Amino acid sequence: MKVFKFGGFAVSTAANIKNLVNIINMNSTDQLLIIVSAMGKTTDALEKLCLAYLNNRNEAILLLNGIKEFHELIISELFGSEDHPVYDEVANTFIEIEWMLEEEPHPDFDFIYDQIVSIGELVSSKIISAYLAECKLNSKWIDARSYIHTDNSYREGIIDWEKTSASILQLQEHIKNQIIVSQGFIGGTSENFTTTLGREGSDYSAAVFASCIHAESLTVWKDVPGIMNADPALFSSAQKYEELPYSEALELAYYGANIIHPKTIKPLQNAGIPLFVKPFLKPEESGTRIDQSAKLNNNITAIILKKHQILLTISTKDFSYMDEQYLSALLKTFSEAHIKLNMMQLSALSVSVCLDQDEVKLKKVTDLFHDKLLFKADEGLELLTILNFKEDEVQKLSKGKTIMMEQISIKTAQLVMKYL
Ligand code: ASP
Ligand code: MG
Repeated sequence: MKVFKFGGFAVSTAANIKNLVNIINMNSTDQLLIIVSAMGKTTDALEKLCLAYLNNRNEAILLLNGIKEFHELIISELFGSEDHPVYDEVANTFIEIEWMLEEEPHPDFDFIYDQIVSIGELVSSKIISAYLAECKLNSKWIDARSYIHTDNSYREGIIDWEKTSASILQLQEHIKNQIIVSQGFIGGTSENFTTTLGREGSDYSAAVFASCIHAESLTVWKDVPGIMNADPALFSSAQKYEELPYSEALELAYYGANIIHPKTIKPLQNAGIPLFVKPFLKPEESGTRIDQSAKLNNNITAIILKKHQILLTISTKDFSYMDEQYLSALLKTFSEAHIKLNMMQLSALSVSVCLDQDEVKLKKVTDLFHDKLLFKADEGLELLTILNFKEDEVQKLSKGKTIMMEQISIKTAQLVMKYL
């Protein structure tokens, strides 16, 4: 069995969905499991709806109507205007949101978020499954929440691997020459509530399915030629990797290259399943292959620019050293607040960390230590990471910017920068 993952772009218009069917037909001999994201920018729109639900219900209803119209347009282009059961199926899925909007909001925003935002993937997968049937492909829709079991960390559900792999293995026994269609990004708790796995988490879902089902490969269909060494929108000289070892792909994702969800590689590497990143609009092209046998082309420098960064300098108030005791307490709190440290540097009286800008999460840390430690935040910064760098490249890329913090090792250069 092969697993294909189609992201928001691949299901953003009726024309793209027809292209998705062409891609499936090109692979007709293989047993397939398809994981889909929400259509186009639906997840962003549903995020807005969640915020509006707390502040202004009328606005939330207007936003929901916009989302419904966007989906109805795609359905009418795919199925025509006559009576097709998919219209009702989709309307019934959106009703879940309507019901929620009538109730007082649950006190936990992350819980609300997951119950609402997950509807994007549910609707999308229902439309795709129905359209495959319309194209005479034998498809079966399954609810990912019954297979991807998570704890109740809403918005970043942690997978229970034992339960998940047992459920997915069972699935394998029941499918016979059908194309299975399921949702990326979502999972279910033991109390049957919906969780999500973090933004862009559909890649991860596809990797979890692929690894538990012992798939032959996972192909992620994207709106780029493959994995690039830099963002082509920022660097015109960006080039594609033909192949990448797992370790290198993992590093690129870790440093923030916008290619693949950072959690995707590990399950694939552990199970020895190759990952193909292929261009959705040019399916005949080779894309990038990531597996054990791939060689890294050391002549290619990877450039990753992360925006919206904060440099937080944390110092002791009473002139005591920033020692291991302080550090372990701080790290524990960062971890509990789900804050990822993108870079860290230590000095006698302080530690500096570079983080994604998120005031709400950060407040959890600063509140806890405000009596003992001083926090100074520089906002609106960029974090530049260069892998396999050459000295002149570092200079060229940081030209005209103030370097607030830097770290250079044999292979990797990282700079926190600010525009002058
Ligand atoms: N729809 C979700 C998002 O946009 C998950 C995904 O597409 O991977 O973040
Ligand atoms: Mg996506």
